[in-house]
Amino acid sequence: MRLIDGKTISDAIKKEIAAEVASLMDKGHRPPHMAAILVGHDGASETYIASKEKNCRAVGMTSSLYRYEENISEKELLEVISFLNDDEEVDGFIVQLPLPRHMDVDRIIAAVDPDKDIDGFHPVNMGRLALGEDAFVPATPCGIMELLKRDGIETSGKKCVVLGRSNIVGTPMALLMSRNNPHANATVTICHSKTADLAAEARQADILVAALGKPGFVTADMVKDGAVVVDVGIHRIADSTKQSGFRLVGDVDFEKVAPKCAAITPVPGGVGPMTIAALLMNTMKAYKKKEKIG
Ligand code: NAP
Repeated sequence: MRLIDGKTISDAIKKEIAAEVASLMDKGHRPPHMAAILVGHDGASETYIASKEKNCRAVGMTSSLYRYEENISEKELLEVISFLNDDEEVDGFIVQLPLPRHMDVDRIIAAVDPDKDIDGFHPVNMGRLALGEDAFVPATPCGIMELLKRDGIETSGKKCVVLGRSNIVGTPMALLMSRNNPHANATVTICHSKTADLAAEARQADILVAALGKPGFVTADMVKDGAVVVDVGIHRIADSTKQSGFRLVGDVDFEKVAPKCAAITPVPGGVGPMTIAALLMNTMKAYKKKEKIG
């Protein structure tokens, strides 16, 4: 069994982006600018946004945060989105999810300019992705594809089973894996809560992607010997032996599953760091498109 080291690979990507930003600035260009909108005080969202801001600055990009309390109205939020859409200084931005219950998430996502939609959630980008056209791809599946490519995992002709069909992970992951290119070309099955025999489907996988949001859901009996397992899940589990009082686990029962695998992503240090790296890649892409570079 080999660990797929998302931390090291994401560090390499960030170094490449930092070098590119520095080179652009040497040539007199402005730095790329990523903005984020955060509503409320969800703990996981706060952590993600803080990490995004830190990483943005570390690679030399400009980062700005628009913070609002839970009681901001949908109309006011749409006005902020409109402002960022029009702001020439902003290359791309995200609206951090989840949003408060009184918001229509689909309406909010649809209000983002597709050319600034670095989260890749806008229907135009999802449509372009489905058609195999150039698109902003949601950061987590985009990061996973980059991780597999850089780690040298063969996907072409392999059977890939994706557990979960969300719009932000499972569905785009399945689309990307089935695309006609040398770093995809897999035969893909998507499983969800209505799948008749999920364990039997999972056992067929050469590459198993677990994105269910259920800690330790994937057990050893669901995994074929020699499979590659990508664990997207991230959960805090209370652990009194840790100084923090918790440890992070994924959707895979790592201890039991890892010995059966050819390779597996750990939690933490697998998919998580790649999500941030992919968001930086998407920001660079939006910047270049806007500035007509490359
Ligand atoms: P989600 O929107 O809750 O979707 C979960 C999917 O799993 C749904 O399609 C659901 O099926 C399916 N599912 C749930 N329980 C199941 C069960 N018992 N049997 C079969 N299918 C089941 O979750 P998500 O946003 O895709 O996220 C998935 C996980 O990835 C979460 O743990 C999340 O925290 C993590 N995540 C990590 C990162 C990262 O950077 N590492 C980024 C994003 C998400 P139905 O459609 O039938 O309901």
